[in-house]
Amino acid sequence: MIYPWQADDWNRLQQLRGHWPHALLLHGQAGIGKLRFAQHLAQGLLCEAQQANGEPCGACVACNWFAQGNHPDYRIVVPEALAAEAGAGNAAEEKADKADADEGKKTRAPSKEIKIEQVRGLLDFVGVGSHRGGARVVVLYPAEALNIAAANALLKTLEEPPAGVVFLMVSARVDRLLPTIISRCRQWPMSLPAQQAATQWLTAQGIAEAPALLAEAGGAPLTALALASDENRALRDWTLKQLAAGSECDAFACGEALQKLPVPLVLGWLQRWMYDLLVQRTAGAPRYFPQASAALTRCASQADAGAFARFMRTVTRQRAVENHPLNARLVFEELFLGYRELFA
Ligand SMILES: [Zn+2]
Repeated sequence: MIYPWQADDWNRLQQLRGHWPHALLLHGQAGIGKLRFAQHLAQGLLCEAQQANGEPCGACVACNWFAQGNHPDYRIVVPEALAAEAGAGNAAEEKADKADADEGKKTRAPSKEIKIEQVRGLLDFVGVGSHRGGARVVVLYPAEALNIAAANALLKTLEEPPAGVVFLMVSARVDRLLPTIISRCRQWPMSLPAQQAATQWLTAQGIAEAPALLAEAGGAPLTALALASDENRALRDWTLKQLAAGSECDAFACGEALQKLPVPLVLGWLQRWMYDLLVQRTAGAPRYFPQASAALTRCASQADAGAFARFMRTVTRQRAVENHPLNARLVFEELFLGYRELFA
């Protein structure tokens, strides 16, 4: 099943029926369910009793194989780090989206890449004819995980795949794809769900603070769901209080309290807070932490504009080296000292 907010995307996509592109690039923000959508689409293409709007029937032999993860004309290629969860579909997307949102430690794992060996295996699969006489479908997720060698190995096949082969590339970071990959795909942007639909869905999952979490997740429901069960949530709230304190921010307490956390995680909080501060200065509404609107207004009115811009650059620079082994405590102390100075 696709998510309720994807019905429009699904219906629009059915316009392609009849001249289905051999490579489709489904892209959009992390955490909106692109992988599940791609898998449902794959099942629809393989189903042998397809419904009117391209929906898989859910009952034929192809659908049964698909559900069990062993349809002979289907392949999903994911980085090793995600392989275990890929069968579960949604779980894999959440995991990857989490990593994408820099909320996890997985960014450090080399196995986050799709490697050339995996692409070679895929080309073998593509080279053999269809088992069921119908389409053969390949899902690549996330497409930005293709390393250069793997991407290059894929190019020729992506341009002229054997008849009946459909590639579904899924990406939250089109900017990280090789232009030569993008140009061989039909691009299909996937929309961010409407706020109300996303909030309703989150509430139905038993999430109490759906609107706040959704805002913090930049409108992506699956990211919001992951945030709700984030084990670091208490520390995150504590950190936001420190940031809200402006000139009273205790940088050394931050270094002490946060030192065990992954650097990218804390940098992400800081970056989102700074984004909201900047928006607040320019008379907009905070995007990520609307519930902290009063504190943001207060801080924004106290900070020096020039220092503000310099600090933003410091945080951005830090993000560029965040995966290098660093002394987290020192990094955090320095950053939070820099933050406090904004209000000096
Ligand atoms: Zn079916």
